[in-house]
Amino acid sequence: HAKRNGKDQYRIYTDNMTLEVTDLVETSTALRQAIQNDELVVHLQPKMDIRTLEVTGAEALVRWNHPSLGLLQPFDFLEVAEKTDLINEIDKWVFKKVAVLISQWQKQGVNIDGMLFAVNFSARMFYMPDLAEQLQEILNGTDCKPQQIILEITERDMMRDSATCEQMINQLRSQGYQIAIDDFGMGYSSLSVVKNLSADYVKIDRSFVQDLATSRLDYEIVSAVLKFADVLGLSVIAEGVESQTHLDKLLELGCTKAQGYFFAKPLPVEDWLAFLLKNKN
Ligand code: C2E
Ligand code: MG
Ligand code: MG
Ligand code: MG
Repeated sequence: HAKRNGKDQYRIYTDNMTLEVTDLVETSTALRQAIQNDELVVHLQPKMDIRTLEVTGAEALVRWNHPSLGLLQPFDFLEVAEKTDLINEIDKWVFKKVAVLISQWQKQGVNIDGMLFAVNFSARMFYMPDLAEQLQEILNGTDCKPQQIILEITERDMMRDSATCEQMINQLRSQGYQIAIDDFGMGYSSLSVVKNLSADYVKIDRSFVQDLATSRLDYEIVSAVLKFADVLGLSVIAEGVESQTHLDKLLELGCTKAQGYFFAKPLPVEDWLAFLLKNKN
């Protein structure tokens, strides 16, 4: 994650707060308590069809509403969680939260027909042989179906043990979940791994979207990924769309799906719902 502390990405993160969250043991204990005390929060970033500008769903992104430090971003605490099995507790918590939200909206008559809700899973989730059963148990208490869920795994995570991940991806897909390869282009996949991958979506990393209008090379890379994905039967979602120019270039290239600050930042659940309702009128 060190690289991500770059100019544009996460807020530059220094000094006092870092000191408070670097101690692995201390932080993981606090995190464990945070899960129990319900201090985690899910924000939802709208996923858009960029041809129609309709909301097609959302990606769930976790935050930690820390009692003294305020709202912490994933960058502030996931690295610690990923060193332990705690990340699995967080990922399952988010998964359940999303399943419960979907159920509630359906009961309340909010029209989310055909929408897809994405949850980020770390590689550790895919290493649990009974993952599918665990997820089913969570869904059993809700009206949410696997068909309403996209599971996102980063390309980098997947490459750490691509054989295990591939197997689990196949199992999850056979249960009805859709799979997205996140941060695509950043993970050093060999073409042979990608060729054999059965996923549903690739998410083009925002670093390629950023300079789409000014860098001929980035434009050609995005173009190549779109062609490549088309051959493999994968849909492409562009990440980090921040301007009309980004949007125009993506449309020109034939990309149909995107997320980004241009449409909306990750929003508290109520604000996402308001965005959805406003968007529909
Ligand atoms: P990601 O899954 O690639 O999520 C996209 C990140 O880009 C989010 O950061 C989002 O807020 C940010 N983003 C979205 N649109 C734009 C844009 O237009 N411009 C810019 N500059 N940024 C944009 P966030 O929420 O800080 O999450 C960071 C990463 O943390 C995520 O990257 C994901 O890998 C991880 N993460 C977040 N929630 C979870 C979770 O529940 N479980 C796991 N395992 N990982 C998570
Ligand atoms: Mg993601
Ligand atoms: Mg990403
Ligand atoms: Mg990312």
